[in-house]
Amino acid sequence: MSEPLLLEVKDLKKYFVTSKSFFTRKPSYVSAVNGVTLDIKKGETLGLVGESGCGKSTLGRTILRLTPMTGGQVIFDGKDIGKLKNEEMRLLRQKMQMIFQDPYSCLNPRMNILELVRAPLDVFKIGTAAERTEKVKEMLEIVGMGEHHMMRYPHEFSGGQRQRVGIARALISSPEFVVCDEPVSALDVSVRASVLNLMRQLQERFGLTYLFISHDLSVVKHISDRVAVMYLGGIVEITGKEELYENPLHPYTKALLSAIPLPDTDVKASPKVLEGDLPSPYNPPSGCRFHTRCEHCMARCKEEAPVLKDMGGGHQVACHLYD
Ligand code: SF4
Repeated sequence: MSEPLLLEVKDLKKYFVTSKSFFTRKPSYVSAVNGVTLDIKKGETLGLVGESGCGKSTLGRTILRLTPMTGGQVIFDGKDIGKLKNEEMRLLRQKMQMIFQDPYSCLNPRMNILELVRAPLDVFKIGTAAERTEKVKEMLEIVGMGEHHMMRYPHEFSGGQRQRVGIARALISSPEFVVCDEPVSALDVSVRASVLNLMRQLQERFGLTYLFISHDLSVVKHISDRVAVMYLGGIVEITGKEELYENPLHPYTKALLSAIPLPDTDVKASPKVLEGDLPSPYNPPSGCRFHTRCEHCMARCKEEAPVLKDMGGGHQVACHLYD
């Protein structure tokens, strides 16, 4: 029997006001998230990949309501979180947490590890002071740190240890859903695998559901069950991990996959070069937003934006080549 849905995102939009016209005083907007629809089952990891600046982190933050949504719906465990009052949302945050890319910048350098990891328990008023300290000890142990680290400060630790502290802090309030925003990209390659393995172990132990954001397809492959590919504010392809890596459909996904370094021995590999930079979201291309870089671009692509279509077995793609 398949697991029930924990998260449903429907036509989610996030626009930022950039400036107001000098004459009309009308604001202009940049669309960072442009009508995203996806869902995540309980206990699943959905990888979210795309180039830097495509809106992945904004999507993660908007799902958690860390930044207000412009339109659409986010339904978490049956609750429409856009409609929750502040106090209801504050309580729900216990169940929805985030692991950040740069653990150093998200850990207050003046607080010791005990205070940092205990902070969510203080905020949500979980347990007595003694119980909270006990819980911090237990959680530090689970993430591979120890009680002897509790009185030390973030600058005394390596990047990998700081990320373990960040993970302990995110998980101490017993969340069900965690947005992991590039959690290993700031780490040395040598420690990435150990942090990824830790995250998998914690997922199994606590039954966590992850939205795992990364620009690195090889990292996403390691941890995800399904993968969504994002381009300039929208999802262009979404499917199971194996299917995506074996049978990518969208030209952007193919270009991203062909750019993954292969062993020297693989002489047949001929990477497709993704021409040009990601266009500015301030002035996105008309029609299909990928048309300025797509080798298959047709006249229709410049005028009509493709929508996600199911190609069978839950493999969805947004491209006119498959109409
Ligand atoms: Fe390329 Fe057209 Fe498909 Fe966009 S819709 S990815 S431009 S073929």
